[in-house]
Amino acid sequence: MSAQKILIIEDELKIARFLELELGHEGYMVEQANDGREGLNKAQTNQYDLIILDIMLPSVNGIEILRKIRQNSEIPIIMLTAKDEIMDKVVGLDMGASDYMTKPFAIEELLARIRAALKRGIIKSDVLKTLHVGQLQLDLEKYSVCYNKEAIELTKREFDLLKHLLENKNIVMTRDKLLETVWGFDYVGDTNIVDVYIRYLRSKIDDKYHIKLISTIRGVGYIIKDEE
Ligand code: CA
Repeated sequence: MSAQKILIIEDELKIARFLELELGHEGYMVEQANDGREGLNKAQTNQYDLIILDIMLPSVNGIEILRKIRQNSEIPIIMLTAKDEIMDKVVGLDMGASDYMTKPFAIEELLARIRAALKRGIIKSDVLKTLHVGQLQLDLEKYSVCYNKEAIELTKREFDLLKHLLENKNIVMTRDKLLETVWGFDYVGDTNIVDVYIRYLRSKIDDKYHIKLISTIRGVGYIIKDEE
């Protein structure tokens, strides 16, 4: 098995360097970012197995980074918090941090938590059957959709259409393509059916939650984009 890759986002250089050294010693491949924006950028462009994320960071804080990463990734994230940031801890765990450590911490404890989080991460990614965009979550196993944890009732066809758009997030899906995948090759009828079902989805999601989930690309089709 190749070495697992860990990203450390921490602006205190002493701590960042110490962690890099210790984790490297344990056989992990380590990268560090010492600024929020740089860290977020790395997290979104490169592949890591785990992220160690400080909360108080220049340019973009740890909570904001966590929120952004969680929009489309279930990667294990261990938050580092200073002693007086109890509120942040709660917020962090609520927002999907895997674990947290209060500074100053014993490196042995952090190493143990890293091993545990990596193990859980592997188990989780095997059974990961959800698609996300912003607050919207689609569960492929339970065939359920919720927005901000509130269930949305969809018909089978609406679900399939939404699923297909989410699986191809940030890619424009043509009407023909959607028709082919969601209704099947043998569908005989008007391609307007796609527009009709997009309207159903919009009234159940966009209108209800005052968001712009599905965008129209005039003359081409539809797209669901990641939130900025
Ligand atoms: Ca800091």
